[in-house]
Amino acid sequence: MGKVLIIGAGGVGRVVAYKCAKNSSVFTEIMLASRTKSKCDDIAADIKKDLGVSIQTAKVDADVVPELVKLINSFRPDIVINVALPYQDLTIMDACLETKVNYLDTANYEPKEEAKFEYSWQWAYQEKFKAAGLTAVLGCGFDPGATGVFTSYAAKHYFDEIHYLDIVDCNAGDHGKAFATNFNPEINIREVTQEGKFFEDGKWKITKPHEIGKDINYPNIGPMKSYLIYHEELESLVKNFPTMKRARFWMTFSDNYLTHLRVILNIGMGSIEPINYNGMEIVPLQFLKAVLPDPGDLGENYKGETSIGCRVRGIKNGAEKTYYVYNNCKHPDAYRETKAQGVSYTTGVPAMIGAKLVLEGKWGGAGVFNVEQFNPDPFMEEMNKQGLPWHELHDVDLEMD
Ligand code: NDP
Repeated sequence: MGKVLIIGAGGVGRVVAYKCAKNSSVFTEIMLASRTKSKCDDIAADIKKDLGVSIQTAKVDADVVPELVKLINSFRPDIVINVALPYQDLTIMDACLETKVNYLDTANYEPKEEAKFEYSWQWAYQEKFKAAGLTAVLGCGFDPGATGVFTSYAAKHYFDEIHYLDIVDCNAGDHGKAFATNFNPEINIREVTQEGKFFEDGKWKITKPHEIGKDINYPNIGPMKSYLIYHEELESLVKNFPTMKRARFWMTFSDNYLTHLRVILNIGMGSIEPINYNGMEIVPLQFLKAVLPDPGDLGENYKGETSIGCRVRGIKNGAEKTYYVYNNCKHPDAYRETKAQGVSYTTGVPAMIGAKLVLEGKWGGAGVFNVEQFNPDPFMEEMNKQGLPWHELHDVDLEMD
């Protein structure tokens, strides 16, 4: 049906490549390109061995638009799935516009020099994508991604108005390391050390990092300490569902993780300000990334599971209603299938699904879209088929005051 170019060969890129190969009647030709070609070749070899599907590989520096344009023009994909880093979003979008190819990513653009999470830069591409008649799908991982689809599914089928949304993200896994991040350490630490922020009564409210925490009960897992943090999908969800009175995002962090994080920050290793070290300019956080475990290598002994979902309260036919929709994903299952851990798996599967729906014409249109703007139904159906089955509970105590 179509050709896909996947950019980025980390944990998420591995899962996207596996899942596209498993759907080879839709993704008839697959190319995986990244900065380090050997990583693409390793993934391609695993896919050949496990699935008997051949995928092409290439080297590309996705910070450089002409390099991207050259690669895209040589392969001529129908869609580019960007699972490199958020820093590359705009260059890849520029290259897609220049070569007239659809675009999809899993994280909003971030400037390298400032940890700022907002869609403004990418939403500014709206007119360009519209004029080119191309589709850009923003934030199609799990969160953002499936969480936006869960919300629009709730709005479409069960609510007249959504008033309260709590996105709850639990990783009850154990990778056996003293400290490691589940996705790119630099991106992860930038995200979790920022101030907390949530939306209430038409305003954004700021908290100190990890100032608000509470035990939340997760299905099949039990109570886990969860902290209010800012997460990018809140920005698009409150815009696209204007009846919301409050929208918050909660993520679990163990005491051990938070202690390590505190030390990292206190000693300056979390800084993104370049420093001079022995005549060389280094960014402490980038140096830290180099010594931390590679998230792509955590999978083998990773036990436990993740649980991510949306807890929604609102009204239907004049009566108050509550709804909870979630997916649990077991790390060992993800590893068995793709040699990646659950966090990479829960991100990569939705990215493949979004691209599949664009190629099948079920999602589309000219412009830049967040996932909740599309029909949620085919995405929800695919989640059940592609390894991320979801469950729903109606009229339950959401435990979110
Ligand atoms: P990794 O760091 O494991 O992988 C990133 C990959 O991108 C690496 O292969 C890296 O190459 C490549 N890359 C980096 N810079 C460039 C460049 N300039 N040109 C070409 N390739 C480049 O990250 P993850 O796989 O864990 O995460 C991938 C993306 O998924 C990130 O944007 C992350 O924010 C997002 N994400 C989204 C989630 C969601 O639910 N929405 C959850 C988790 C992650 P090299 O190997 O050479 O370093």
